[in-house]
Amino acid sequence: MEIASAASREIAVIGSGPAGLMAAETAARAGHAVTVYEKMPTPGRRFLMAGVGGLNLTHDEPFEMFLTRYREAAPWLAPHLEALSPQNLRAWADDLGADTFTGSSNRVFPKAMKASPLLRAWLRRLEGQGVRFAMRHVWRGWQGNALMFDTPVGPLTVEPAAAILALGGASWPKLGADGAWVAPIAAQGVEVSPLRPSNCGILIDWSAHLQDRFAGTPLKNIALTFNGQRITGECILTRTGLEGGAVYALSGPIRDALEQGVILTLDLKPGLSAEDLTTRLAKSRKGESLSNLLRKAAKLDPAAIALLRENGQPPREAGALANAVKSVPLSVRAITGLDRAISSAGGITAGSLDDTLMLKARSGTFAAGEMLDWEAPTGGYLLQASFATGAAAANGAVGWLG
Ligand SMILES: Cc1cc2nc3c(=O)[nH]c(=O)nc-3n(C[C@H](O)[C@H](O)[C@H](O)COP(=O)(O)OP(=O)(O)OC[C@H]3O[C@@H](n4cnc5c(N)ncnc54)[C@H](O)[C@@H]3O)c2cc1C
Repeated sequence: MEIASAASREIAVIGSGPAGLMAAETAARAGHAVTVYEKMPTPGRRFLMAGVGGLNLTHDEPFEMFLTRYREAAPWLAPHLEALSPQNLRAWADDLGADTFTGSSNRVFPKAMKASPLLRAWLRRLEGQGVRFAMRHVWRGWQGNALMFDTPVGPLTVEPAAAILALGGASWPKLGADGAWVAPIAAQGVEVSPLRPSNCGILIDWSAHLQDRFAGTPLKNIALTFNGQRITGECILTRTGLEGGAVYALSGPIRDALEQGVILTLDLKPGLSAEDLTTRLAKSRKGESLSNLLRKAAKLDPAAIALLRENGQPPREAGALANAVKSVPLSVRAITGLDRAISSAGGITAGSLDDTLMLKARSGTFAAGEMLDWEAPTGGYLLQASFATGAAAANGAVGWLG
């Protein structure tokens, strides 16, 4: 049986990830009654998962540089990222007792290097602000002006004064965000660009030898180049390809170019110029095996040597060998799927939103977080934009309610 409930001045937030919780906090601070509806039994599951890798909250770099990470979405995200800037976000985390520090490569983390203490303190504060939580409520769409939910006790419709959708993208669906919102939202005439994997691994057809001997081996201090973009960092060899930071950073451009065929270039010695490497490799002793030379003169580990051999026997002449070490071609067959991607690209297009993140097709309904059509690399940019758009959507809803 359907239970109808009408809450006259209430703001409904759907989704309890960083975008939804930031929207709830912003709306509650402005004096509104707020209920957060969430399909999972507990809030912030993907946020907690992000904490397993240390919880890279944001990035410490000049703001103009920071903005460029959002590529074509930068112009419309800029005012929201200015309003809740990386500095503001750090101050917010500090205020919750999760003091932050800037780590290597300017990534910002809470000192605890996990999400649970911050999330616990945040939920306590939200409850203190009167925010209500309705867990195991799965949003299904609209019935007229009312939001429809499936709940453990049956269907429920709610007609809040304004609604903020913060349903996430479609990566790691077992944590909650599965993209099932696309159909009901698109049915309203809202333009949604397809949800695709972002910050994901790549699939490469390795030889059986490489798979059996080296799957799971980290490749430290390497550089990957694609389409003129060079990323220095590390990644992990898997049975089916490569995972890890350096690959994730290129996965967007790789995904967009797959139809034309993608050849990545792997530099196994990014810290040495081809000349310096040639000089080292030229000091080969008579009768020395190629593996020994590469191990001793170039300090390559067995996994790197095996990678070099994937394309056949490397040349012995020092200059040619140095070039081979610094430009191993990797033929990418595909990217990994949404189920293991860190984030998803695509979502509600900027053209479907007004400046306050209200859906042009549905007055009084706002949207935030990864369900919007922006894409960024790992490094704290994903959480920062989720928090910032959550706050912006709530400010939009508060303003709209007058
Ligand atoms: C392994 C991993 C590590 C990561 N590490 C980092 C990191 O270190 N730094 C970083 O910046 N980013 C990181 N991210 C990405 C980051 O977690 C996301 O970008 C961010 O959580 C997006 O926030 P969101 O609020 O938009 O969506 P989500 O966090 O996905 O929240 C959406 C919520 O909506 C709920 N929901 C979905 N559909 C419905 C429905 N129909 N009804 C009701 N509720 C619904 C979901 O259950 C979920 O709780 C990581 C992601 C993963 C998977």
